[in-house]
Amino acid sequence: MRLERKILVLGETFQGKIETTSFEMLRVAQDLNQKIGGEVLFLLGTTQVNTEELERAIHYGADRVYCVVNDIFGMLLPHLSAKLFLPPIKELKPEIILGAATSWGRTILPYLAAKLHTGLTADCTSLDIDPEDGRLVQIRPAIGGNIMATIKTRTLPQMASVRPNLFPPRLDTSRQGEIKILKDTTNYNPELLKSEIVIQKDQKELTASKVVVSGGAGIKNKSNLELLSKLAEKLNAALGASRKLVERGLANYPQQVGLSGKTVNPTLYLAVGISGAIQHLAGMQGSQWIVAINRDPEAPIFQIADLGLVGDAREIITSILEVIDEKTHESAV
Ligand SMILES: Cc1cc2nc3c(=O)[nH]c(=O)nc-3n(C[C@H](O)[C@H](O)[C@H](O)COP(=O)(O)OP(=O)(O)OC[C@H]3O[C@@H](n4cnc5c(N)ncnc54)[C@H](O)[C@@H]3O)c2cc1C
Repeated sequence: MRLERKILVLGETFQGKIETTSFEMLRVAQDLNQKIGGEVLFLLGTTQVNTEELERAIHYGADRVYCVVNDIFGMLLPHLSAKLFLPPIKELKPEIILGAATSWGRTILPYLAAKLHTGLTADCTSLDIDPEDGRLVQIRPAIGGNIMATIKTRTLPQMASVRPNLFPPRLDTSRQGEIKILKDTTNYNPELLKSEIVIQKDQKELTASKVVVSGGAGIKNKSNLELLSKLAEKLNAALGASRKLVERGLANYPQQVGLSGKTVNPTLYLAVGISGAIQHLAGMQGSQWIVAINRDPEAPIFQIADLGLVGDAREIITSILEVIDEKTHESAV
């Protein structure tokens, strides 16, 4: 494949809307493009064309937007979506392909990399261009987050996924660009396509919430966890967890914050019974305000906390809930 100086961002959509993480990737692509002077392309798939939505991609950094239209994109079936993305990618011949390291990106990008016979550096926290040879420099944590590995791919196109929530999107509504609609009429056997999208309304999305309440090993049991969930609910917060809480079966993996979980940057992060291991900090230290509850005054989490409460988690949560209930009662009378 002959390649040109183009950076292609693979766009993620859900129910017709482009995900914020895709706009973050456009910002990353624009920053890289300033060093190679090429073009930023945005490739996405939808069931129906929504021009306003496509223009948003231009405002967030795309020079050209390619929208593949096919019913398959309504079904969250990444392997089939990938099949539809391959022909335009082969035609556009990008030098670099980027996608967000979301569940969707982590599924579809390895498939595409295999089909394009190239490598993929997953979960990068930073990208750059080598001034010597113009190649993509991919930086990601390795060996348990103790070192940052710098990776260059020998094969082309150079593919990387980037952790969400690290690069705030950049909006410029004066940007102009080109939109191309690619109608793909491939029909898949509907019998093979039974899929169901279940939206868990009772669980707030961790990466999009302004307040995150996370529990660690100090939470210890189900009854304490229920109390923590109640606090999260009162604060309109998403419920996160340390890896130890997930390993103990008290939380699910999608709730894990940290190096091998999600990166969050809410306005308020409340860490309860979490020691503050480097791998946990990797996923939450970008939070605006950090409040920690821990019975050990020497716990490392207090080094990065804006406010620290030393004491038993259950007792402190109960007191906070009482105060919230009192205030709610006062304002109701
Ligand atoms: C490759 C790799 C990737 C990893 N990825 C992640 C990741 O994504 N996310 C992550 O979280 N970890 C990750 N880890 C694990 C990480 O190193 C820590 O083991 C983990 O974060 C510890 O979780 P914790 O703070 O809940 O538990 P602990 O370190 O055991 O801390 C529990 C804390 O609770 C406090 N406590 C105990 N009882 C109470 C009480 N009654 N009231 C108040 N406080 C109390 C204790 O003082 C202690 O500080 C990773 C590790 C590796 C090697």
